[in-house]
Amino acid sequence: MTEEQTWLEETLEEAKLNHWCVRPSCTTCGSRHFRDTYLRRAARVAGIEVADHQDGRQILESLSLEERAGMFEALVAAARHIESKWQFTDALETILQDLDPPFIKWGVVAVLRDLLEGTPAGDVLISLEKERQSYIAMQAARAAYESPEAVKQRRLERQRETEEWVAARLEEKAERDASRQEFLNTLAAMSDAERLLLLATKEKYFPLEMIPDELVPAGDTSNSLNAKQCEQLIRIIGKRKRLWRRLRKRLEVQR
Ligand SMILES: [Zn+2]
Repeated sequence: MTEEQTWLEETLEEAKLNHWCVRPSCTTCGSRHFRDTYLRRAARVAGIEVADHQDGRQILESLSLEERAGMFEALVAAARHIESKWQFTDALETILQDLDPPFIKWGVVAVLRDLLEGTPAGDVLISLEKERQSYIAMQAARAAYESPEAVKQRRLERQRETEEWVAARLEEKAERDASRQEFLNTLAAMSDAERLLLLATKEKYFPLEMIPDELVPAGDTSNSLNAKQCEQLIRIIGKRKRLWRRLRKRLEVQR
């Protein structure tokens, strides 16, 4: 390979060997030594005279448009020959950041992705672009999520859910009340003995507390319930007081 093809690869090796900072957009040093070095070398390969003390920025600022284009071409030509072992390294990413976008940074009308197509550096560029696009999409999604309209929309949604919940609870309660009332009506239409039997066998219908005093069985229990039903009703009454307690006593005597 010619020097035009190998110098950038050699610069990468040198940076690695000497532990130069190659971090993309390094906030401490801007990976300046690394970048100054390859920019200076690119200028020389492009046939541009540069002094050793000139850093990358000074070189770029002092160049004509043609010279910049020459430097860009020298860098791209060498980047095309970078080996795949440098793929997804900070060093290569830093170089690609310096090249892209060609027009804004170098005044060169070119599509970097086309120029590097099919090379390890080109593959990295594609994945960097994808990353950038998904970052932009993510930012857009976040902005949409946090927009006043979306916030208001979510608040209305929550409000509506709460209202629906309350309405459902009220409806449940109404149904429960209705079925209790129906049971009370049934109970009221019964004789004392029938009531006793119903209570002893339909415990799950509703709590005994719902039954008004006048519907608590008050008569003789001995002919209405068998022993098992007696036990059952005693258990249901439990430790309830007053009329229920009296009923329990009568049942206990009978048992
Ligand atoms: Zn650094």
